[in-house]
Amino acid sequence: MILTKSYAAFEAHKDLEPYQFDRRELRDDDILIDITFCGVCHSDLHTVNNDWKGTKYPVVPGHEIIGKVVAIGSKVTQFKVGDTIGVGCMVDSCQTCHACEEGIEQYCEKGFTPTYNGKDRIDQIMTQGGYSDKIVVREKFCLHIPENIHLAGAAPLLCAGITTWSPLAHWKVKEGDTVGIIGLGGLGHMGVKFAHALKAHVVMITSSESKGEDAKRLGADEVLISSDKEAMKKNKNRFDFLLNTIPVNHDANPYIQLLKTDSVMVFIAQ
Ligand SMILES: [Zn+2]
Ligand SMILES: [Zn+2]
Repeated sequence: MILTKSYAAFEAHKDLEPYQFDRRELRDDDILIDITFCGVCHSDLHTVNNDWKGTKYPVVPGHEIIGKVVAIGSKVTQFKVGDTIGVGCMVDSCQTCHACEEGIEQYCEKGFTPTYNGKDRIDQIMTQGGYSDKIVVREKFCLHIPENIHLAGAAPLLCAGITTWSPLAHWKVKEGDTVGIIGLGGLGHMGVKFAHALKAHVVMITSSESKGEDAKRLGADEVLISSDKEAMKKNKNRFDFLLNTIPVNHDANPYIQLLKTDSVMVFIAQ
C-alpha cells in the first residue's frame, strides 16, 4: 500500500486535521501522482459539512488536482513518468454502458466514482481526494496539463473550469454573442474568462459594484448591476446566453427578461 498524508474532515463544521491513510497499489491501468496543487471547490465545503447528507468521515476533499506522474501501471499507454497531469471530480466509471461509450461518464448508468466520498468499483474502499500528497487514479480519468501554463492557476480548471466551459460549448456560444455571466465567484470568474476568450461581448451581471471592477479586469466588457431596476429594464431582450452562477436560491425572473426570444440561461451553481 502507498502511505499518503492528507488533511481530512472528521465531522461537520470542524477544521480539517492531518490524516494518514493507504492508497491502493497500482493496478495495470493506474497512475500514481505526486500532487503539487489542489483547488478548493465549494463542493468540498458542502461535503465536509455534510450539506448533501451522505458524507462518510473521515473524508479527504479535493477534486481540482494537479500533479506529476511518478509511477504507471503495466498497461498505461497515454502517460509516462514525469508528465504533468490533472484529475477532476471523477476517477472511474463502468466504461461499457451507453453513457460511457458516448464519453459522458458523468451519466454512467452504473454511477460514476467520485474523486472522494465514493466507493471504488473494484475494492469498495472509500475514495479520498486531493488535499493529500499523492493519489492513484485510473489512466482514463487523468488529463494532460500543458507545462507552459500556471499550474496553481490550472487546478480550478478541473472543476470550476469544466463546469463553466461545458454549457458555453454545449450552447455554442460564439464570437459576437452577447453573453451575461451572473455572479462572480469561483464559477463566474471562469465564465467571464472563457466567454471573453470566445470573443463574445461579455456582460458581468452582479449586485456588487466592486465585483464589477474585478470582472472587467478578467475580461468583461460591461457591468450590469442587478439591483438597478432601471438598468435591468434597459437590458431586456438583449442577451444570447446567460450563465447563472448564483449559489443560493433566488428569483430567476428578472434575469429571464434579459434574454432574447428562444435564448438560453443555464444554472450551474444550484
Ligand atoms: Zn468542484
Ligand atoms: Zn457507464
